[in-house]
Amino acid sequence: MGTTKSLCLLIGKFKSSVCMDTVSKQKRSEIMSRIKSRDSKIETLFRKELWKHGFRYRKNVGKYFGKPDIVLKKHKVVIFIDSCFWHGCKKHCRIPSVRKVYWTQKIARNAKRDKEVSKHYKKLGWQIFRVWEHELLKSFDNTTKNIIECFK
Ligand SMILES: [Zn+2]
Repeated sequence: MGTTKSLCLLIGKFKSSVCMDTVSKQKRSEIMSRIKSRDSKIETLFRKELWKHGFRYRKNVGKYFGKPDIVLKKHKVVIFIDSCFWHGCKKHCRIPSVRKVYWTQKIARNAKRDKEVSKHYKKLGWQIFRVWEHELLKSFDNTTKNIIECFK
């Protein structure tokens, strides 16, 4: 009897911890999807602009280090469009109050990784462009033009 009871307690405990985790995961993906969908819109516009200018690219290529958003192999160019949130833009990154520590650490890790990725491509002799999402949102035409000019 005693064993059964403690087993139930254990399962109960386990269950609740699973539930808690699911809730916070849900919350997390909720936040993420909100942020991501906005990102991809501006990214798509940017890609279309490149295409219009005759650049043929590949996107989100897994085999390239750091998964660049755009790869122009012929030009030896990789382009990253950094979202203000995920990459910790000093001006716009607001850490959610829910799971603050988690987000702070995650974004700090992303920023560190960005630096490693940049180093990697510089070493290979590739050009790497990092575009802030806010630059594109603020002055899309100019930002796009400036980047294209750089590797024409
Ligand atoms: Zn920003």
